Amino acid sequence: PNTRQVVTRIAPSPTGFMHIGTARTALFNWLYARGRGGKFLLRIEDTDRERSTPQATEAILRGMRWLGLDWDGDAVSQFERAGRHAEVAQALLERGAAYKCFATQDEIAAFREAARAEGRSTNFRSPWRDADPASHPDAPHVVRIKAPRDGETVIEDAVQGTVRWKNADLDDMILLRSDGTPTYMLAVVVDDVDMGVTHVIRGDDHLANAARQSLIYAGMGWELPVYAHIPLILGPDGKKLSKRHGATGVEEYQKMGYPAAGMRNYLARLGWSHGDDEFFTDAQAREWFDLDGINKAAARFDFKKLENLCG
Ligand code: GLU
Repeated sequence: PNTRQVVTRIAPSPTGFMHIGTARTALFNWLYARGRGGKFLLRIEDTDRERSTPQATEAILRGMRWLGLDWDGDAVSQFERAGRHAEVAQALLERGAAYKCFATQDEIAAFREAARAEGRSTNFRSPWRDADPASHPDAPHVVRIKAPRDGETVIEDAVQGTVRWKNADLDDMILLRSDGTPTYMLAVVVDDVDMGVTHVIRGDDHLANAARQSLIYAGMGWELPVYAHIPLILGPDGKKLSKRHGATGVEEYQKMGYPAAGMRNYLARLGWSHGDDEFFTDAQAREWFDLDGINKAAARFDFKKLENLCG
């Protein structure tokens, strides 16, 4: 992927206000693309219909505009691409990389209970994995990936290094639900590939998802993007950053009168460093930003420092 034009993206779920952490991830992706003549895309991950709201989407767009993080093309709605996601699930079935599973909720629960009682892994092992399609009933089913059972899945991550998973620990995750709607796992991969994303820079709470998502890439014969999973932002006390610590919403800072340039400078330094430089212009940030400079240890939000920078 390194020889192609760089394409990054931010893929927020519109389920609330725009969090500082989302802004930081967006900024890293924006800096990486803009510093390399690449593209920066915006995808609204509104697949979860219960939790997604148009107000939250608007808040994200407002936050991005305020921070000056311009994106290329139109914001993409993930929900509107559900037909394409189902198409890829069908292709995976045809390639033998996925299968239809007719197990009922009760059967899965009984499997898990027995597994727990016997001290085995509770990953569901579907009896339908190797079933002859001729034996398929005409009944509701999900589509599952056929995860390898032996060996390892390895992700080379630009921040975390080489990360390994035992395939025995991976499950045959669901790609399409019984109502035909795609899961997040499938949607993200299909959208990233269709949008030509070369570099996925996102929170390290998605690191294990990368291993599972790589199975979809492998099943389709698609090339993996470069992954860079960045540590989450902690509060000054080392605990997960939350309202307890202070304002965590981008718009709160805007309303308090913080300048966008100061926010950008502060957020750029939050988990990324360039020597001892604390202050830099946007041009310098674009020139200097690189995945090598992202810290492996979680950054702590420093309200005093932000205030000083913006003061
Ligand atoms: N929608 C996901 C989130 O908001 C991001 C998924 C991704 O970056 O791959 O956490």
